[in-house]
Amino acid sequence: MSLVMVIEDEEALSMLLSYNLEKEGYEVATVSNGLNAVSEVERLLPSVIILDWMLPEISGVEICKIIRSKPDIKTIPIIMLTAKSQEEDKIKGLSAGADDYVTKPFSVPELMARVKTNMRRAPLFEEKEKTLAFEDIFMDLVERKVKRGDNYLHLSPTEFRLLKMLIREPGKVFSREVLLKSVWGENIFVESRTVDVHIRRLRKSLNKYGPNYIRTVRANGYAIDKNAENDEADAEEED
Ligand code: CA
Repeated sequence: MSLVMVIEDEEALSMLLSYNLEKEGYEVATVSNGLNAVSEVERLLPSVIILDWMLPEISGVEICKIIRSKPDIKTIPIIMLTAKSQEEDKIKGLSAGADDYVTKPFSVPELMARVKTNMRRAPLFEEKEKTLAFEDIFMDLVERKVKRGDNYLHLSPTEFRLLKMLIREPGKVFSREVLLKSVWGENIFVESRTVDVHIRRLRKSLNKYGPNYIRTVRANGYAIDKNAENDEADAEEED
């Protein structure tokens, strides 16, 4: 059975989530204190984490950053739960490494749909291909590792999925809409700006060890392309 961990200090909300998750057939672990959160994640290794932004002692954003820095747990999908709805806060949450974002008050069916989508992306999901490569970039889909030359890259689960999508069909331009649908799921509402944020982070990780291979196709989308190098400056200008 798949375990979902709910990190939320509001007891009523935590109970509501547990009730609905169990109804969907998941096992649920709840954590109400931000200080225990990371050690509980390490102990229980949940398939998906629902993480509240506003926690006493330590914020959801901080917890997210810590989880993403730990090799054993960094690939676990994180859905950030928050009352903050400002665009800059969303970007901040995504930059901290969250895969998904739900603003309170949220609809329970929508959150359940997001759990399901993120569950499908959890590391247990079986891949047909075992490895993918483009030039000096190598992806091990089983171990979920990415190397550029001899250097291992630390990608979030979302960045990993984006790279996988691009690298499968070099040169093909993927629109933001197509990337959203494939990487985030059909019934999920995510703004197209979210794609740009994750692409920017992916590019930053990749470019540490070589030239830029992710081409921005203005008003269109992205492609992995050996001749993309000069596009990096263009892409940064758009911010
Ligand atoms: Ca809270």
